Amino acid sequence: MTETAPDLDRLRGGAAPRNHDARTIAALTANPGCARRGVMDAAGVDKDAVARALGFPAPFGQSQFAITRGNVFEQQVKADGCAELLTLLREGLGLDVPEVAYDDLETVAGNEGRELRHIRTRRLLARALETGEGTLFDHPLLRLDIGGRPAYLEPDVIAFQFAGRFHVIEIKSFAVVDGQAEPEQVAAAARQSAVYVLALRDLVAELGHDPERVSHEVFLVCPENFSNRPAATPVDVRPQLAVLRRQLARLTRIDDILAELPADLTFAPGERLAEAVRTVEARYAPECMAGCEMAFFCRDEARACGATGALGRSVRDDLGGLDTIGTALALADGDLDPAADLAETAAQLRLASLLRAEALENAEARRAAEAPPAPAAAPAAAIPESRAS
Ligand code: SF4
Repeated sequence: MTETAPDLDRLRGGAAPRNHDARTIAALTANPGCARRGVMDAAGVDKDAVARALGFPAPFGQSQFAITRGNVFEQQVKADGCAELLTLLREGLGLDVPEVAYDDLETVAGNEGRELRHIRTRRLLARALETGEGTLFDHPLLRLDIGGRPAYLEPDVIAFQFAGRFHVIEIKSFAVVDGQAEPEQVAAAARQSAVYVLALRDLVAELGHDPERVSHEVFLVCPENFSNRPAATPVDVRPQLAVLRRQLARLTRIDDILAELPADLTFAPGERLAEAVRTVEARYAPECMAGCEMAFFCRDEARACGATGALGRSVRDDLGGLDTIGTALALADGDLDPAADLAETAAQLRLASLLRAEALENAEARRAAEAPPAPAAAPAAAIPESRAS
């Protein structure tokens, strides 16, 4: 534990820390600049419970149908000591995998204890690194340091040893159709795989070997073309690894963020919870909706104060230094004199505003020119004499 541990306990209001998993760790990389998320995650605060207590629950998780489909597909790929997976690696990817040893690390002599499973994972991987023994290690129990606390990762993945290097194999149930898959799902799978690569590298380093013996190339196994036939795709997760490392390093420097916060701050349930959450700066962006339990609360807050981030991360970045939409509009209209460091942004906003006004004017003029002539007014009907008086 780090010296911040007592502070982090207080932030949780004495509740037990919430365990991370690959999804939550991968999600850390989705918004690395958010202090609110950084503090809550480092403290192991149950963000889902906090969001519910604030009246902004966020529905996350897969449907039961998707979970069942995923389990069936995984069992199929792993059946008979991963026979189908091996065919895929040999024939689909052309890897020369001569003989195969398969170890399932899900239990140790019927015991599912995490510590025991982690010890066995270490022992088998150490042997594989020393002697090359072992090919497929199913359900390895890995560990990663998150904000000074070890987080156990219980992946469905397989660590595959090939030519002296380990590759992470991740089995996902989303479909690959004509070689294409939903980009968001591939990106999420790549982020999660990067978490496993990092944890596996940490373990390999702890065992006294070069962490690069864990490849940055992972294999994603998905059903192909609406069938249950698996297809394997190599994915390079180097970009995800870089972001993940940066964000984890930031979490371990959580002391700096804590130093700026009130000494009695706590996220314990109660009347002052919303105020406590607002004390820690957030960087809301629409992307939060896909990956953070606090998203509905932060979106509401961002809209209420007109934060530029509510319009999207690219808008906020383009307006670097401007926090609110109101300030941006005032600078664009020339109603506000910019500080020296905002002079360039203000000039660009004024130019954009002029161009917009000009474009609207031109469009209006074109519409007027293209409009059909108004029908001539009908001559006034003659009034019959008998009714004229
Ligand atoms: S939803 Fe809120 S707490 Fe979560 S990452 Fe976004 S801004 Fe940060």
